[in-house]
Amino acid sequence: MASDRVPYVNLIAQHEPLKDELLAAVERVLDHGQFVLGPEVAQFENQFAELCGVEYAVGVSNGTVALVLAMQALGVGPGDEVITPPNSFLASTSSIVLAGASPVFVDVGEDYNIDSDLIEKAITPQTRAIMPVHLTGRPAQMNRILDIANRHNLHVIEDCAQSVGARYHDRPVGSFGAAGCFSLHPLKNLSAVGDGGVITTNDAGLCEWLRKARNHGLRNRDECEFWSQNARLDTIQAAMLLVKLQYLAGWTELRRDHAAYYQSELNGVVGVPVDKPHEHAVYHTFIIMSENRDELQSYLAKQGVETKIHYPIPIHRQKPAGGTGEMSFPVTESQTQRILSLPVYPELTDAQRQHVVKCIQRFFESGA
Ligand SMILES: *Cc1c(COP(=O)(O)O)cnc(C)c1O
Repeated sequence: MASDRVPYVNLIAQHEPLKDELLAAVERVLDHGQFVLGPEVAQFENQFAELCGVEYAVGVSNGTVALVLAMQALGVGPGDEVITPPNSFLASTSSIVLAGASPVFVDVGEDYNIDSDLIEKAITPQTRAIMPVHLTGRPAQMNRILDIANRHNLHVIEDCAQSVGARYHDRPVGSFGAAGCFSLHPLKNLSAVGDGGVITTNDAGLCEWLRKARNHGLRNRDECEFWSQNARLDTIQAAMLLVKLQYLAGWTELRRDHAAYYQSELNGVVGVPVDKPHEHAVYHTFIIMSENRDELQSYLAKQGVETKIHYPIPIHRQKPAGGTGEMSFPVTESQTQRILSLPVYPELTDAQRQHVVKCIQRFFESGA
């Protein structure tokens, strides 16, 4: 791809070098024929649990259902409140509503993650859980969050959809809360070839409940223990994930290398994220801040650089959340006006990332 065309992601480039391995895995599944809960599902779950430093992982059909099932497993439902940030992909909030509970928003800090200083003010007698989101692939302040949760007897459900492999004080995300919920959507750092999700936990009872809950509440082939949905991870997706899991560490290093490059070249030109020493971020997104965001985005588009905004509408301003209502989250709202996500996918070439940097520098030099 020409260096002056930089798409925001490139899934074709990600899968091209893996084609032979992926097709061989498809063939194995076609040959054994166990398309539902076949052996690859358990193999993937074992490897994923190891990656996250937990006892158990349960494959499910997507990240949203992972969050819903985790809350149901913990008995979070009607009448309960769950504390979560308004700056996230909307599924962290919709999953709370789908579980029958009520979201209570707490503003974020400059790291785009929930501001732990504001959590205690939001706790009421109805609060049952805190759902931090490790947004952009950067871990939330888990020590503070776990401390608050312990003191108030609340569950912690981690939304790890953007943060597979991220670590906080050298401990992987997904190993802090009662459950960690991951998405394997094609745009995430580790992805299926379609939809997928996975839940991590150290609790054997929770794991056992989740394995039934993703499969109609069935205890065995014929006996149902409780009503539930069909939320299984497909065998063929697990087979794809087993191939791709081998490359995740390398991809994460490439993402981190692109991030370090952007940080060194763009610091002082635009706002760039600065990780704390105890945060090992995996850069699902690389978000810069600029007062001239909209002009910068159109300028970059003209130079062939595709960018995105994560997210242009904060969740509390979405229609089902009550639209513009009375809620006010000043940090989220001010970030929404200034944030811009640059391409940071592993397959980005040196020439492409140089082009991105040159264009941004030129924009500010010329005052375009
Ligand atoms: C992608 C994402 C989800 C939802 O995952 P799906 O697999 O698309 O259902 C939830 N939370 C966050 C923060 C996400 O980025």
